[in-house]
Amino acid sequence: MTLLELRDVAAFYGPVQVLEDVSLSVPEGGAVGILGANGAGKTTTLRAISGSVKARGEILFDGKSLIGKRPDQIAALGIAHVPEGRGTLSDLTVRENLRVGAYLRRDTRKVAEDIEYCLDLFPNLRDRIRSQGSALSGGEQQMLAISRAIMAGPRLMLLDEASLGLAPSTAATVYSAIARLRKESGIAMVVVEQNATLAFTVVESATVLETGRNVLTGPTEQLKGMDEIRRAYLGG
Ligand code: ATP
Repeated sequence: MTLLELRDVAAFYGPVQVLEDVSLSVPEGGAVGILGANGAGKTTTLRAISGSVKARGEILFDGKSLIGKRPDQIAALGIAHVPEGRGTLSDLTVRENLRVGAYLRRDTRKVAEDIEYCLDLFPNLRDRIRSQGSALSGGEQQMLAISRAIMAGPRLMLLDEASLGLAPSTAATVYSAIARLRKESGIAMVVVEQNATLAFTVVESATVLETGRNVLTGPTEQLKGMDEIRRAYLGG
């Protein structure tokens, strides 16, 4: 079953149109990548889904239209956005950040279990549980941002450039945790990445955006074999 469907989505910053015509389909429990150069519209596509930019066209989540809904309404439907730049709360501790992620939930036992799950997925965070967000390294902040999204109990997670600014070994650690999360949780994912090698460890299919349009969409195995993808995104 399709969980998220974008059809002919356009998006605007004030009068400036940034997405022209973007389509995307994410099956229940599936993971889809969005690749593309700087400025292609990857971040804006995630913002259109989570309601933080004005969009036209069709965005259906579990059959319901998201167009015109506020970000808090969309989050409450089960969509968690891990933004570029991470958005962890710097004055709060790691544990407080995790609790903030779960603020809409009443199932306290499951919340406690999910905190344990995050600390198991990211052992660095367990060591830093009483540290303030501002004291964390870039990698730890990224781990915390993903964990906070897990704590919301989402059906769909939007991940924006989770590798950005991280040392290659840290980026690899973060992505192997994302791959594990995907296998164990059944949370569907939209993965925006400049680093296609990392994205391909998680997603089954991907689309390439250029100036706000899809130029290529296909299964990961097919994309990996294409010269243009290898040259532009796989460094070879
Ligand atoms: P990047 O990896 O650089 O974030 P991207 O593919 O995610 O690239 P977007 O951030 O979606 O691209 O940006 C798409 C276009 O929208 C770019 O031309 C960018 O300059 C423009 N843009 C982004 N944010 C704004 C904004 N707040 N106001 C106006 N234009 C914006």
